[in-house]
Amino acid sequence: MEQSLEIFNRLVTDLLADEAKNPVAEYVPSATLYERLDLKLQNEGLSVAELEAALKDLVFTTPRTGTPAFFNQLFGGRNEKAILGDLLAVILNNSMATYKAAGPQIGVEKTVLRELCNLIGWDENSDGTLAPGGSMTNFMGMLMARDRFNEKTRYEGVHQKMTVYTSVESHYSTPKNAAFAGIGRDNVRKIGTDANGRMDNKLLREAIEADIANDLHPILINCTAGTTVLAAFDDLAGASEIAKEYGIWLHVDGAYCGSVIFSEKYKHLIKGVENVDSFTLNAHKMMGTPLSCSLIVVKDKKHLHDSFSNDATYLYQTDHDEFNPGKTSIQCGRRNDALKFWVLWKSVGTRGLAQIVEQEFSLADVGRDYVRNHPDYVDYSVDDTVAVCFNYKGIPAEDICTKLYEHSELLVGYGSFRDTTFIRLVTINSGNQKEDILLFFKKLEAFVEENAALFSLN
Ligand SMILES: *Cc1c(COP(=O)(O)O)cnc(C)c1O
Repeated sequence: MEQSLEIFNRLVTDLLADEAKNPVAEYVPSATLYERLDLKLQNEGLSVAELEAALKDLVFTTPRTGTPAFFNQLFGGRNEKAILGDLLAVILNNSMATYKAAGPQIGVEKTVLRELCNLIGWDENSDGTLAPGGSMTNFMGMLMARDRFNEKTRYEGVHQKMTVYTSVESHYSTPKNAAFAGIGRDNVRKIGTDANGRMDNKLLREAIEADIANDLHPILINCTAGTTVLAAFDDLAGASEIAKEYGIWLHVDGAYCGSVIFSEKYKHLIKGVENVDSFTLNAHKMMGTPLSCSLIVVKDKKHLHDSFSNDATYLYQTDHDEFNPGKTSIQCGRRNDALKFWVLWKSVGTRGLAQIVEQEFSLADVGRDYVRNHPDYVDYSVDDTVAVCFNYKGIPAEDICTKLYEHSELLVGYGSFRDTTFIRLVTINSGNQKEDILLFFKKLEAFVEENAALFSLN
């Protein structure tokens, strides 16, 4: 073990030193990947020295998501406390199904979930779990909605026409999950949004009424806290009135920005969250823990048990359900994703989590100010969130993002709202400073200037 830990230390130390100079890794085109790197598996193993060399090559050519030049997706940066927790989770290697196999780690998980429920304002009747990603926690929310609508479904299968409501701007996991759940992609109603990308609750109500008039069964409203492109927040209070009126489950997909719950300053963006049925957030997004750390909490824990518990005498041998969270999980064996978040939370306190959120919002303000004050940019962002959306000098966003990537300059992505496609700068790395955001624009501008021939400038 010690030898491997030494190798690990050397690799990480070298990587960190190199990242400080080269925040973007060498670009390895997929077409030449297997020529550039020796990834083959052979009959004979390697010597330790050969293995270390192969690992170093691999580590050095892997995209660098921890540096200030990574803005490509809804995660990034490196939180050292959370990493410490996750490394320990790997070494301890517990499965979070039973107290017998995970011991105090169950308490770690329960504490994180309890505190989240407390922040929402839910009582002891609430509970939650973790799953490998927001797509999966959204799936769990949908399954609970389905089973609450008709408790026989989990025995008899789906034989009613159920419908699901989510905004056109919401994450693709909803239609995918509707397929998994036996509800069907065609029964997902994509509700239009207002000019700021928020689900239009008037259209939502109309869609529900139209479906009821056609003898369909609305089972789930999915609201988004942080839509994928604009990072917009649906109106939870308005949606929860509709959900209550029609007896529909309300789930909040806060995978991206649900962590605003930790900030007194920004939790107004999810006002009304105490009235929803289930709520999910990805700590690996705004909180900056390593992938993945996805929490789902439900107001009434009965639904977690109803949809996910299964007796198994070979597994559940000691303690009661409360300490055997396999009974409320979509998995059997389950890695300990709670520990990294707990270590972070323990070390910085709820106040520190708030600072993480607030730093990300203030970085977005820096970006939006820059874009709005420089005539070569067109701004498409909405205020009060963590995405900066813009185009530069009329260059197609796709073109500029791909060339920045291929030249190992910056990793940033693009998105569309209504008919416009634009660059989407996500300020979700709280380790970044104002200067890093300004440097992003300087690098972008210098790149376009130096490579004018690559772009058809107008
Ligand atoms: C990222 C994201 C998801 C999916 O979460 P994964 O952890 O990537 O599966 C779902 N919804 C929204 C709004 C997201 O931003």
